[in-house]
Amino acid sequence: MSDGSSFYVTTPIFYVNDVPHIGHAYTEVAADVLARWHRQAGDPTWFLTGTDEHGQKILRTATANGVSPKAWADKLVAEAWQPLLNTIDISNDDFIRTTDARHEVNVQLFLQRLYDAGYIYTGEYEGYYCVGCEEYKQLSDLVDGTGQYEGQLVCAIHSKPVELLKERNYFFKMSEFAGRLLELYKTRPDFVQPESVRNEIVSFVSRGLTDLSISRQTFDWGIKVPWDESHVVYVWFDALLNYATAAGYGYDEEKFARLWPATHIVGKDIARFHAVIWPAMLMAAGLEVPKQVYGHGWLLVGGEKMSKSKLTGIAPEQITDTFGSDAFRYYFMRAINFGQDGSFSWEDLAARYQAELANGFGNLASRVIAMVTRYFEGAIPAAVETAVTEAERSIRATERRVTAAADAAVSRLAIHEAIARIWELVDELNGYITEQEPWKLSKDPANADRLATVLNTAVRGLGTLAVLLSPVVPEAAAKLWVALAGVGTVQEQPIRSAYEWQGGDRVEPLEALFPRIEVEATA
Ligand SMILES: [Zn+2]
Repeated sequence: MSDGSSFYVTTPIFYVNDVPHIGHAYTEVAADVLARWHRQAGDPTWFLTGTDEHGQKILRTATANGVSPKAWADKLVAEAWQPLLNTIDISNDDFIRTTDARHEVNVQLFLQRLYDAGYIYTGEYEGYYCVGCEEYKQLSDLVDGTGQYEGQLVCAIHSKPVELLKERNYFFKMSEFAGRLLELYKTRPDFVQPESVRNEIVSFVSRGLTDLSISRQTFDWGIKVPWDESHVVYVWFDALLNYATAAGYGYDEEKFARLWPATHIVGKDIARFHAVIWPAMLMAAGLEVPKQVYGHGWLLVGGEKMSKSKLTGIAPEQITDTFGSDAFRYYFMRAINFGQDGSFSWEDLAARYQAELANGFGNLASRVIAMVTRYFEGAIPAAVETAVTEAERSIRATERRVTAAADAAVSRLAIHEAIARIWELVDELNGYITEQEPWKLSKDPANADRLATVLNTAVRGLGTLAVLLSPVVPEAAAKLWVALAGVGTVQEQPIRSAYEWQGGDRVEPLEALFPRIEVEATA
């Protein structure tokens, strides 16, 4: 059993029916920043992502493209989903595909155990099914269609008609777990966050749970039900188990015990699967429920939720090709309060790039290194204790304060807040340089001690920033660390004591961390 110090973080596994858009990349970056932070803090960390490859929707897409579903999945994983991770600098420790043998075999094992324990029975189900969601819908989840779907009931999420299906299926006795789930939400208020998502989940389960249909007979692209191979496992039941099978469930119990339970980062629209069905499945199997399910908000483009089907999909490379992966990561983590919906706009991205990254942080680094080069021939001067003033003491206090505050924010998954706290040091250092005017101090040898102390303080401050910002802007932080002749790599520096400068004695030339970009008017 895990002692709680390990940090096992997951993204949802993404459907391979289509290529990634910035909404997927947003989730990946959030999980990655958390993983990098914990890794750099020395916490045992494991970061899982992957792809969801079964189900009717993928079968239909593959068939429409004239290939087998496995060939379709292989192509999308190789050409779109794995490359996404490079595009935005994701540091995942594992990548699971639901067509992996380690997954398929152990989904069957899990299901057999539930069957043997009496949690699965045969029943008949009739209901409205949304292929987009891969789930049966309650009438309350449907809305009246418009345009070409006028007069039909459509899925509220996909705006497409649902199908009335009747199937003889296997059912999971989920209704038996409503009481235990409500108890879980009550005794562990952090289990589902943020609060808005928690409230919705509690109110949903309070109305009572129905049993869950967990097999399908109408198509065969999925994991076979072990005791009845004419059925395949419902794709969500299959997909949720990736978090356990990737962690060793069924074949490496030592690893599973070490990693489990996980922190799941998901979009709020799939929080219900993760905070209701998934813990009920785990309870039935006698396993620990997740540490936390965090349902982040939607990315809005022009006021609408980002999705390919609504034609507002923006590919991550459209942003990284111009601004770079660091700017992509910084922008989405900084501009949007994690947990709430947030709007993306090219104007806001370009403005923040220029003001915060290029002028705020990048320019600070260039100026300080240029002054050390000019006034000390590149040798980082030592501070002279007798020349230390209130201004330097304030910078040092800020370094400690923001380090602790950012770490506390990360522990609450408030990534935007962590960055805002760190930026207080960027702003204070910029103000410090402006006020101390090292270029004036350099003109009079009588100020030599002050000049050395000011530039030493600025270099230390930059070192603190490199360590603290490494999880967010890993490329820029690594370049800055090298330019400051920091010891080892920046990722090795313990983040909870970022203010303990581990520097060398000479600065190296630094190329612009965030070069000026001429932004054309983009849609
Ligand atoms: Zn739907």
